[in-house]
Amino acid sequence: MPLFTRNIRTLLTVRYTLVVAALMLVYSGVNLTFQYFYLSTQLELNLKEDLEIIQEILITNDVMINPLERISDHHPKPYERFVEIWSDSGRPLYHSSAFRFEVNPPPPNPARYGAEPRFFSFRFPSGEQWRTIGMKVTTNAGVRIIRISMSEEHLHEQIWDIFRFMSYLTPFFLIIAVLSGSYMARQALAPIDVMAVQAERIGAENLRERLAVANKEDELGHLAAVLNDLLDRLQRSFQRLKDFTADASHELRTPLTAMRSVGEVGLQPGQPPEQYREVIGSMLEENNRLTHLVDSLLFLSKADSDRVALQCETFEVSSFLRDTADILQILAEEKGQALEVDASGGTVMLTADRTLLRRAVLNLIDNAVKYTPEKGRIRLSALRTGDRVRISVSDTGPGIAPEEREKIFDRFYRLDKDRSRETGGSGLGLSIVQWIAGVHGGAVTVTGGTGGSTFALELPAVR
Ligand code: ADP
Repeated sequence: MPLFTRNIRTLLTVRYTLVVAALMLVYSGVNLTFQYFYLSTQLELNLKEDLEIIQEILITNDVMINPLERISDHHPKPYERFVEIWSDSGRPLYHSSAFRFEVNPPPPNPARYGAEPRFFSFRFPSGEQWRTIGMKVTTNAGVRIIRISMSEEHLHEQIWDIFRFMSYLTPFFLIIAVLSGSYMARQALAPIDVMAVQAERIGAENLRERLAVANKEDELGHLAAVLNDLLDRLQRSFQRLKDFTADASHELRTPLTAMRSVGEVGLQPGQPPEQYREVIGSMLEENNRLTHLVDSLLFLSKADSDRVALQCETFEVSSFLRDTADILQILAEEKGQALEVDASGGTVMLTADRTLLRRAVLNLIDNAVKYTPEKGRIRLSALRTGDRVRISVSDTGPGIAPEEREKIFDRFYRLDKDRSRETGGSGLGLSIVQWIAGVHGGAVTVTGGTGGSTFALELPAVR
């Protein structure tokens, strides 16, 4: 990589200077061409004017007065011209004394001259270029060929002068271009340096800091705002991760502490054998809780890192709900609850990951059984509306207050921590349900008042 492309400031300056140089080149080219054509046209106009004067003299009297005296009335430098008058047969009749060529111009070829003026150019061996105008004029004394020539040297000198003037100006303009380009690049990029310094200071410990946004409307302001949004998102994720780790440690410590204290009680001397059985039973219960918790944590960490791949299949929902309910039927029966599947919605087909969906529905039924008092009723149903399938789990439990409905889906959020712990809850079940609904392109909602709650999984029928 060339050196200057590593530094945007230098790169911009070099490009800007190159553009200015190219523009100057084009401008000089156009200007010189224009000047050349302008001066060349002027020269031809002068020649034409002179020709008209001489033509007039010849027509009126064909007298050999010095035609240059007449021309001098019109032109400040008449002797720059060379005037020739020839007879039609090619005999020289007159030529002006201003003649200063090293060799005579060749005699005119009468066939090349007509009644209309014509321009010719010729170059002398010395390299000098002359422009000539010539025409035939019919006078009383016969046909005459008038030829007036003028050196282009003056024209070339003028063009050369302009060229020299521009060449002297070019380095001057280029220096200005380099200085102004570098200054503008530095000014334009200065906010990036400021941003870089600010960004360097931001780390995990001060994720609250933000980049200063000087002008929201310009590109760099927009970039700073976008980076600040990114920092907002990072800060939120970081905070979530911190909370999650803290909550997870807390949740893990509780059963571990319980196991230790139960164990310590068991170790006290003189305990009857039944006491040992009870201690071991409690420890196994805490162990179950721990296993369940670790299993949920593992699932969520896989979900967070998108490592759960969907394996979708098409199945009938009512029979799926019946199979799922059967797994927890025993728990419901222990509490004298009626756990039923309402199949009145007819045959409802759904394409989804059956294993994941079973996990979601199990969590919902488990909650319903846990939080619904004894002798309560739990109803499962499936309904297809349009291209969506709605799976509902309703219970006759305490219900969930409207202000809590959003929060219960947060990780580790529990309405009644003590009761939830008694029932083995860790506050992760509904987060898992929500993730499973989301990954299927659906959502989970909760409704209902104090007479019970209804959790509904709304999923697209086909994926
Ligand atoms: P947990 O493991 O504590 O049950 P969840 O995420 O499954 O965690 O539920 C979060 C909280 O929502 C529970 O602690 C409970 O207070 C409340 N909840 C969940 N389902 C029900 C329900 N069917 N009836 C009443 N409250 C419920």
